[in-house]
Amino acid sequence: MTAVADHPPVRRPVVALVGRPNVGKSTLLNRIVGRREAIVEERPGVTRDRKVVEGEWAGRVFDVVDTGGWLAGGGRLEQQVSAQAERAIAQADVVLLVVDAAVGVTEEDEQVAGLLRRSGRPVLVVANKVDSDTREPDVWEFTRLGLGDPWPVSALHGRGSGDLLDQVVSRLPAEPEPAAPADQEEEGPGCPAVAIVGRPNVGKSTLFNRLIGEDRSVTHDMPGTTRDAIDTVVETDEGPVRFVDTAGLRRRARAGEATEYYSLVRALKAIDRADTALLVIDATEGVTHQDQRLAERVDAAGSPIVIVLNKWETLDADARANVIAQVADRLSFLGYAPVLKVSALTGLGVHKLLPALRQAVTEYHRRVPTAELNRAVQAAQAAHPAPGSRILYATQGAVDPPTFTVFATRTLPPTYLRYLERRIREHFGFGPTPLKIRVRRRSS
Ligand code: GDP
Ligand code: GDP
Repeated sequence: MTAVADHPPVRRPVVALVGRPNVGKSTLLNRIVGRREAIVEERPGVTRDRKVVEGEWAGRVFDVVDTGGWLAGGGRLEQQVSAQAERAIAQADVVLLVVDAAVGVTEEDEQVAGLLRRSGRPVLVVANKVDSDTREPDVWEFTRLGLGDPWPVSALHGRGSGDLLDQVVSRLPAEPEPAAPADQEEEGPGCPAVAIVGRPNVGKSTLFNRLIGEDRSVTHDMPGTTRDAIDTVVETDEGPVRFVDTAGLRRRARAGEATEYYSLVRALKAIDRADTALLVIDATEGVTHQDQRLAERVDAAGSPIVIVLNKWETLDADARANVIAQVADRLSFLGYAPVLKVSALTGLGVHKLLPALRQAVTEYHRRVPTAELNRAVQAAQAAHPAPGSRILYATQGAVDPPTFTVFATRTLPPTYLRYLERRIREHFGFGPTPLKIRVRRRSS
């Protein structure tokens, strides 16, 4: 071990400050250190610019690393990033990307943001130089960086720095980290995970076997999270798709085998690991109370749902109309879920499943431009103002599912939020994916 004798043997959490020159990193660093006597360790030989100081907030002690100056010099960003700065980011528990709210998004900001998104580290965007309320609406444009809601602060005056530090501390590992196990090889984000759920005997196995049968090669089975769970990755025209927990589905469907294999608990576990769910319903029985209960639970998990009315080929026109009416009535809370009519037995309509799943997953991960979002929200407000409140601006803070934060002078009633959701969907589509809208109060 080197120089710093009073460091405990376990490594302290590390907060790294990154950003282009002059955005206020040093000022923020001093703000975080506060009145404590700053132990500014210039570590010569590592890099001239890198500073490490000790910060403390809410009882947590952590190192703050200023990677300042790492953008100095010409050439492509990737070349400019010093090995030390990269390592600082890689080792950081939280990275603060500092940007200048008075200037707005610059190309350099975007490049750094891209680098950080690829690093996979938790990042907070700090919109600095928000010295007063009037500047707050300027910060939303930084959501464009794709790193979540920006945190407005004034490093110079201390405004918002407490809120920021709360966020930082809440993202630190709870305990001094034990040696991290090697990351499990998971299918990348490009491979959507699908759970096939439904009551026993609705035709899940038959459907699954047809999906993996249709001149598609099963690329591989891979272990799921529980001991007996197996996932199946299938190559499709639209890329690989991972079906979650398929052991029970791969057994030959036998008549009369009223398998309870896919009990509710098991289905819910599968849904937790899935990007989207295929909810299979036996159209010959219509939408039962049990289907309804399962649909509610799946919906609560937040992922998009594709409703599959199976055994469609056996129904006459009246029966079909009847089932459609039941879906509208008993599954109305699924609102935007597509409804597919298929026969797993004959293959009728099955070709529509994968495109529907793909669309659901794409929309689930979708991010819309902030400026356009605000145009849509302002148009909605102009057409129909919120009772007793005014919307200042809106941002999309997250995906999976798309989650919007609406900044308003007063809270908004649920009916108004539903209205906003409808308008957002009219403007952007979003298909089957659920949306979340939350409201934060801001003085105008
Ligand atoms: P760094 O080089 O990115 O670390 O930036 P500095 O911390 O050196 O700050 C650059 C300039 O921005 C200095 O003149 C600071 O006084 C100024 N500055 C930093 N934070 C704020 C702030 O919150 N509000 C305002 N108005 N100016 C700030
Ligand atoms: P699971 O328990 O949900 O996996 O259901 P299975 O796939 O085992 O199917 C239950 C029964 O429904 C079996 O007898 C299947 O042959 C039958 N079945 C499945 N899909 C269809 C369909 O589209 N049409 C008809 N008529 N029967 C089907």
